[in-house]
Amino acid sequence: MAHEDHDAIYDLLAARGVSRRDFLAYCGSIAALLGLSEAYVPQIAAAVNRGARLKPAIWLNGGACTGCTEAIAQADSPDVATIVLEILSLDFIETLSMAQGEDALAAAEAVFEEPGYILIYEGSVMKGFDGNALRIGGITGLEELEHAAPNAAAIVAVGSCAVDGGFVMARPNPADATGVSMYLQEKGIDTPVVNLPTCPVNPEWVVAILVDVLLLGTLETGAILDKLDRHGRPKYIFGQTIHDNCPRRGHFENGNFVYEFGTEQEALGYCLYPVGCKGPQTYTNCPIVRWNRRASWCVEAGSPCIGCGSLDWVDVGAPFLNRHRDLPLPEVGNTQPNTIAGVVAGIAAAGLAVHAVGMKATGRTSGGAPYEEMKERDKKRMKKGGGE
Ligand code: SF4
Ligand code: SF4
Repeated sequence: MAHEDHDAIYDLLAARGVSRRDFLAYCGSIAALLGLSEAYVPQIAAAVNRGARLKPAIWLNGGACTGCTEAIAQADSPDVATIVLEILSLDFIETLSMAQGEDALAAAEAVFEEPGYILIYEGSVMKGFDGNALRIGGITGLEELEHAAPNAAAIVAVGSCAVDGGFVMARPNPADATGVSMYLQEKGIDTPVVNLPTCPVNPEWVVAILVDVLLLGTLETGAILDKLDRHGRPKYIFGQTIHDNCPRRGHFENGNFVYEFGTEQEALGYCLYPVGCKGPQTYTNCPIVRWNRRASWCVEAGSPCIGCGSLDWVDVGAPFLNRHRDLPLPEVGNTQPNTIAGVVAGIAAAGLAVHAVGMKATGRTSGGAPYEEMKERDKKRMKKGGGE
């Protein structure tokens, strides 16, 4: 697409049913997500307008369900984020490519030949099966990643599978699945990796990262690295817990809980903590950015947050509808991702216990949920050592 014409993007958006006003509003939401003021909206709009070929982007698929591709594609009625993403980049996306066979491989290879592209990687890195998984055109998934990663300016690992193996690496992890950054570390490849967990990834986050690294130049200046937490996640997305921004938080504070689905408490929209909500230990801005054109998100739709924005969320979080009151605190000092997730969950559980005691002591639970009853229910429902 030629981008010399400043109105080109508006024509393109109009053809897809997106007005200039919708687009500018969307640029405003990206600015907010990136922690920038509204003054940056014209800059972001102009950057998107001229930016489509600043750096090519290529989307490769590892071992996963392709749910992240689905989240992005929304083929029947794509939202502004999806359309902008399509305009912005994606010279090649493995699972949606119109080209097939040799042509598709050649399109990917053409991108790999010019260093400096953005590699978007969905799915886990599958080291099992003697490295033979995900073979396309005679090239294994491991070979493809090792070939694509060194020349990339940055890698965006989308979805929890790409971040740490996700559900693919759930015990007993027969595929020996792991995350992109962990695998590249093993191989001594030091391309910067931005991690965007959750299952699936939120398309708005992918666009925000592309705008940040691709168009606002934070990759060149190295500023993007300062915006990442110790797990490589952008702090502006993963800096607060679900619980911090949850609209049911008032019910939590007042001790109004759902203990069983199908009850009056559920109909009243009470807090879902006793039925397994991992919102207190899960760091993402899902309640703010929401999903599906900002229509709703998990807790608003009536489901406890199952913690998919955390590391090792399947093994730590399952069974998903159980409360994690008894999570043991692992040894402090071990920095393996599964241990970190366990520590976070354990600290959150400990914090909530203290919080509950405090609420009871100050009488703030009067008229709300009785914690003794809650404990008894948990005893019946939970397997010993939640998370096992
Ligand atoms: S425990 Fe879950 S449902 Fe309850 S307030 Fe926190 S995030 Fe919301
Ligand atoms: S609310 Fe929780 S379960 Fe839902 S997408 Fe966000 S992190 Fe995942």
